[in-house]
Amino acid sequence: MPSDAPTDAPTDATTDATTDAPTSEYRSLLEVEQSQLRAELTELGFDDGRTGLDYDANFADTSQVTAERGEAEALAGQLKETLEEVANAIGRLDAGTYGTCESCGVAVSPARLEAMPSARFCIEHANRP
Ligand SMILES: [Zn+2]
Repeated sequence: MPSDAPTDAPTDATTDATTDAPTSEYRSLLEVEQSQLRAELTELGFDDGRTGLDYDANFADTSQVTAERGEAEALAGQLKETLEEVANAIGRLDAGTYGTCESCGVAVSPARLEAMPSARFCIEHANRP
């Protein structure tokens, strides 16, 4: 008697890799960005509590120094804003709301998040939330 027992035990190794959203990846991206921003602010002399490079008082009123200080302040302002965005994104990671558009709530595309980990809006609302 031919044994036609269907020995089709499905041995497909169901890779139950927990589909862990790569939030840890974004977190490290954000942390790298955060430390870079802080380093740049430190370099400009605008890290915590300081308000700029210590310009020599004797030259403080030359127009060149004034211009340089103005540029540094503008740059530092931008860096601080970006730093806030990054801190905000890390906060959203902690809260579990990271990666969704703050305007419409859709998931922001991973490509966009990789390019800009602190993105708060989907591509559609990026320019006008
Ligand atoms: Zn949106």
